[in-house]
Amino acid sequence: MNLQEAWQAFLDIVYPTDIRCFICGVRREDMLSYGVCELCQSRLPFIEPPVCPKCGKMMLIEDTLCLDCQDMDYAFYKGISIFEFSTEVKGLIHRYKYSREKYLSTPMIHWMTEGLKVYKWDFDLIVPVPLHPIRERQRGFNQAELLARGLSKNTGVPLVSKGLLRIKNTPQQAKLDKEQRQKNLQGAFEISERHRSLKTFENMTILLVDDVYTTGSTAHQCARVLLAGGAERVYVITLATGSNL
Ligand SMILES: [Zn+2]
Ligand SMILES: [Zn+2]
Repeated sequence: MNLQEAWQAFLDIVYPTDIRCFICGVRREDMLSYGVCELCQSRLPFIEPPVCPKCGKMMLIEDTLCLDCQDMDYAFYKGISIFEFSTEVKGLIHRYKYSREKYLSTPMIHWMTEGLKVYKWDFDLIVPVPLHPIRERQRGFNQAELLARGLSKNTGVPLVSKGLLRIKNTPQQAKLDKEQRQKNLQGAFEISERHRSLKTFENMTILLVDDVYTTGSTAHQCARVLLAGGAERVYVITLATGSNL
């Protein structure tokens, strides 16, 4: 190591300039504290109003329910999402979920926390959409739980991570159409025996957390089970949602 390299090594300790953007992988000047550069952030498809007042999908007209919400009486009260499910967002979620690039949860949690601030919902508990234990073992972690954990930390609202369970190891929703999704998920979730006897969800307003919202089937089924378990109201937040004008 010559003097210049030694000096650089010293500077890297004092000023960690080696931090690369989680998205573009480049060491940039405009890095934000949560690991993404400003340029990459500015290119992401943040959802902006008008949105469907029920599920939060982006719409063209204010105060209009999207087709899915016109069609179906979802058990959850309201949902929001941060991004449209663009190719780029899809890629990011894929890296996070399947390549286990867990550090991507840092910006994701940041954006979701900011999203919650806009809506000012009041909730008592945070609950992640559960994975079946077999799926969770295969994947190594539950992507929704990691996001929920971060939201709990940022909001100070308690997390109940094993209160809602997935008892059916259903085929991947992505491969199914809307009707199949509903059927596929029937009886897939239940409240754990422990939390049933503790009455954890009774009279509680719950924030349900997931990474992706597509037809709303998962959120609906989870909300149904939570309401049947005594919950008063279920809100939903996801990182990304498909568009449905
Ligand atoms: Zn970047
Ligand atoms: Zn909707």
